[in-house]
Amino acid sequence: MKDCNCIFCKIANGEIPSATLYEDDSFRVILDLNPASRGHALVLPKEHYANLFEIPEDVLGKAMAVARKVGTRLFEGLHADGLNIVQNNGESAGQTVFHFHIHLIPRYADDSVKLGWKPGTLTDEDKAQILDLFG
Ligand code: 5GP
Ligand code: ZN
Repeated sequence: MKDCNCIFCKIANGEIPSATLYEDDSFRVILDLNPASRGHALVLPKEHYANLFEIPEDVLGKAMAVARKVGTRLFEGLHADGLNIVQNNGESAGQTVFHFHIHLIPRYADDSVKLGWKPGTLTDEDKAQILDLFG
C-alpha cells in the first residue's frame, strides 16, 4: 500500500525524481539530500511501512540484502574506511520521515559524523526486569 501524502512513497515509486543508485521491483536506493558523509544513501521500500514494527519480516530481510549490496559498492567505490547502517524508529530515536528506511553512511577516518552515546551502567534491577520480559 502507498500513502499518497508520504514523500518517500513518491520518491520510491518515481513520482518525484531522485538520485537513484539502485532500483528493483520492491526497493529504491537514493542519495540523501543532506548527507552525513560522502555517499550517504537511503534504502526505501516501494510499499509504505511507517517503521521497523510495521514492515513484514520478508521485506525487512530483502531490505537488508539490498543494504549490503549497495553498501558494499559504496564502501568499495568511495574507498571508505567503514560503513554505519542506521535505522530510526520514532521521533525520540531521530526519525523524521515516517516511511521505513535504512541509512547507509560511509565512514572516513577524518569525518565528523556523530552517532555516539554516553555509555551508562546496567543496574541489577534493570537487568532483572528486562530479562523477565523475555522470560
Ligand atoms: P530519518 O531522520 O527519518 O531517519 O531520516 C530521514 C532522512 O531523509 C534524512 O537524512 C534527510 O536528510 C533525508 N531526506 C528528507 N527528505 C528528503 C528528500 O526529499 N530527498 C532525499 N533524497 N532525502 C531526504
Ligand atoms: Zn511512504
